[in-house]
Amino acid sequence: MRLIIATSNPNKLQEIQKIYAPLYKDTLKILSFASLIQSFEIEENGTTFQENALLKSKAVFEALKAKNLLSQKDIILSDDSGICVEALQGAPGIYSARYSGGDDKANLKKLLLEIANLPAKTSKAYYCVAIGVSSFYGDFSAHGFMYGQVIAESRGDNGFGYDPMFIPKGFKKTLAELTSEEKNAISHRGIALKRANFILRALLFG
Ligand code: IMP
Repeated sequence: MRLIIATSNPNKLQEIQKIYAPLYKDTLKILSFASLIQSFEIEENGTTFQENALLKSKAVFEALKAKNLLSQKDIILSDDSGICVEALQGAPGIYSARYSGGDDKANLKKLLLEIANLPAKTSKAYYCVAIGVSSFYGDFSAHGFMYGQVIAESRGDNGFGYDPMFIPKGFKKTLAELTSEEKNAISHRGIALKRANFILRALLFG
């Protein structure tokens, strides 16, 4: 049985693999769709994380199905995620990956500047992820959130994206100063993947 991840983001793929691999050991092969077909751009024109996640999982499902590369029990899983900052009225939100028009580093720099320009130099914020699941049995989704604050300073080398400026609620360290195990135990992605696991188990063993 295969869980095919509809992302070309190596950081997301690594976190998903680290969370699911111990749960399934050898019963489930976890791989990127890019190892089966040429990676392609999916237009994220939805208005919510959930819509964009399902756009991605459905597009990859259809592309693999059209090439006869799927078997009945294969599952496609996508991730659409971002950070929402209270003092910026929820921005960058679903536009987190496109915030600066550049890469992850440029996005981080832009948000650091925005927070440095606030009188308080900090704001409440949360990460959100929608997990999309597409299969021959239908399309499903699950959400996860992580609450905390963003600061006008970049600290730590772990994680990716906005992690160096995000301090989870109840912590003193940024996400980039935590180990991947510590992040996965509390993260939006860790929580959503645990929820999505109920869907996976029903599809795989139901
Ligand atoms: P997507 O690929 O369209 O879902 O965009 C995700 C955006 O949110 C990227 O800019 C990521 O850097 C950011 N993001 C999502 N999850 C995380 C996370 O766990 N840590 C840091 N940044 C994240």
